[in-house]
Amino acid sequence: MIDALRQKGITNETVLAAMAAVPRHFFLEKTFEDHAYEDKAFPIGFEQTISQPYTVAYQSVLLNLKNGDKVLEIGTGSGYQAAILAVLGAKVFTVERQEELYFQTKKLLDELGFNTVKCFFRDGSKGLSEKAPFDKIIVTAGAPVIPEPLKAQLAIGGTLVIPVGESVQQMIKITRISDTEFREERLDNFRFVPFLEGVNRKIYPTKL
Ligand code: SAH
Repeated sequence: MIDALRQKGITNETVLAAMAAVPRHFFLEKTFEDHAYEDKAFPIGFEQTISQPYTVAYQSVLLNLKNGDKVLEIGTGSGYQAAILAVLGAKVFTVERQEELYFQTKKLLDELGFNTVKCFFRDGSKGLSEKAPFDKIIVTAGAPVIPEPLKAQLAIGGTLVIPVGESVQQMIKITRISDTEFREERLDNFRFVPFLEGVNRKIYPTKL
C-alpha cells in the first residue's frame, strides 16, 4: 500500500510512516479484509465507505500537522482517517451524522487504543463550536458548499481541507489569515460520499 502511495506521488515520509503504522484491516468489514492494503475505497455498511488510502494520505499531507494540533474531522466513518491523524500527533475531535456508525466506530477506536480520539454524534455542517477554535479541520465527505461555521471555527493561521462539489469534488485548502481574511487554494478532483445535513438515526440490518 505504501509503495502504491509513493508511486502516486505521496512523498511526505511522516504521513507514509503513520499510514504504515495503522493496520487498515481493522477498519474494514471482514468481507474486504484480504483487500485492506489495496489503494481502494470499500463499503463499511450504512451506505458509507472507508476512504481510499491515497485520499487519506493526500488530505493528511495538506493538513501539515504539528504535534499537538487540535483537529476537527467531519465524517468519522470507519475511524481510519481519525486514527492516522492521532498517530500524526493530533488531538482529534471527530463528528459523524449516522448514529449507529458513530457508536460502532467509537467502540472500535477505544478497543484499538485510540482513546485520545473524541467522537461526537451530530451534524458536522455546524462544526463543533464548544471545542473551537481548531488548528486544522478536515472534511471527509463531498460538500456542495463550504459550511460557514467551519471557517468560523478555524484558529487564525489554521487550515481547512474540504472536497467541494456535487458528483465530483475539488479539494480546497483554506487558510485563515486573520479574523476576516481567508486564502483559498483549489487542488485535485476526488469522488467522496455526500456530505449531508442533519443527523440519521436509521437502524441498518445486521450483516450475517
Ligand atoms: N473519514 C472516514 C470517511 C468516511 S465516508 C474514514 O476514514 O473512513 C464519510 C462519512 O461522513 C460518512 O460516514 C458520512 O456518514 C459522514 N458524513 C456525511 N455528512 C456528514 C455531516 N454533515 N456531519 C457528520 N458526518 C457526515
